[in-house]
Amino acid sequence: MGRKKNTPTDRQFTMAHVRHAERITPSFVRLTLGGLDELAQRGHDHWCRLFFAREGQDALQLPTRTSEIGWYLQYLATPKSRRPWVRAYTLRDVRPGTGEVDIDFVIHGDEAGGLGPAAQFALNASPGDRLGLLDQGIGFTPDHPHDWTLLVGDETALPAVSGISASLPEDARGIAIIEVPTAGDRQEFRVPPEMEVRWVHRDESPGGDNRPGQLALNALQSTVPLGGVVHAHLIGESGLATGARRHLVHQWGVPKRNVDFVGYWRHGRPATT
Ligand SMILES: Cc1cc2nc3c(=O)[nH]c(=O)nc-3n(C[C@H](O)[C@H](O)[C@H](O)COP(=O)(O)OP(=O)(O)OC[C@H]3O[C@@H](n4cnc5c(N)ncnc54)[C@H](O)[C@@H]3O)c2cc1C
Repeated sequence: MGRKKNTPTDRQFTMAHVRHAERITPSFVRLTLGGLDELAQRGHDHWCRLFFAREGQDALQLPTRTSEIGWYLQYLATPKSRRPWVRAYTLRDVRPGTGEVDIDFVIHGDEAGGLGPAAQFALNASPGDRLGLLDQGIGFTPDHPHDWTLLVGDETALPAVSGISASLPEDARGIAIIEVPTAGDRQEFRVPPEMEVRWVHRDESPGGDNRPGQLALNALQSTVPLGGVVHAHLIGESGLATGARRHLVHQWGVPKRNVDFVGYWRHGRPATT
């Protein structure tokens, strides 16, 4: 959806390992992964695919082909019993020279059960646990001059929004709307002086609409349209990404080519790999 293809050509599958696991806020576990000395630092919303062993698999079998179609065809050709789980995550921090990265995992759902395999892996992770990583490059690639940057996302988008904000030029102007489960999930990050960050917290919603993404959409819908050329990057639950795009195109009159939108996950539906 809306994502420009900029997959790195210089990538390889890497077997990483957990160095440190920490509950940083009520809804997030941060894993520090090691063994990634070859990983380039790309900034913005640099993301990757992570590969986890399924229950009962004693070895994590990674594809060897690295083209975007090649690895996936190889994955599909692998008997289901030997395929790993695959999930997309943003690199919250890449520290060149250390081989280390941080990834912030939303612990969604009920910790007593019902977590997806990625959230479960993060929740149970301890030093030495292994997982595969494939570099996917960056998704935030505006290719037109613009006056305003508009970022809208839910908690899964917080690592991306913080990375994009930190990478924007000092004179960037705009708004970032970020919905998180609780005020305790807010994070500090570098923001250009003329970029305003608006947080919305689901647990403080008076209307009781706790569907992830709805409050961020409401916040966008009550924002006065920005005058001038807008570049919008809309990420998070699929209904938020598509609803925000619809609003910007139909109510604000933003041209479709100025709106990138990516459904990071779908309410009630596990990722398909
Ligand atoms: C480019 C990109 C970058 C991303 N970056 C991050 C990131 O940095 N941090 C992050 O936490 N996520 C991120 N995501 C989203 C993450 O990939 C999905 O949330 C993923 O589905 C989680 O996998 P899982 O195995 O835990 O759950 P799944 O097995 O995929 O899903 C199990 C159930 O949980 C539900 N579910 C999945 N995610 C959530 C959620 N966040 N909240 C509530 N219910 C959910 C599903 O609807 C399903 O019912 C990113 C996605 C993309 C495409």
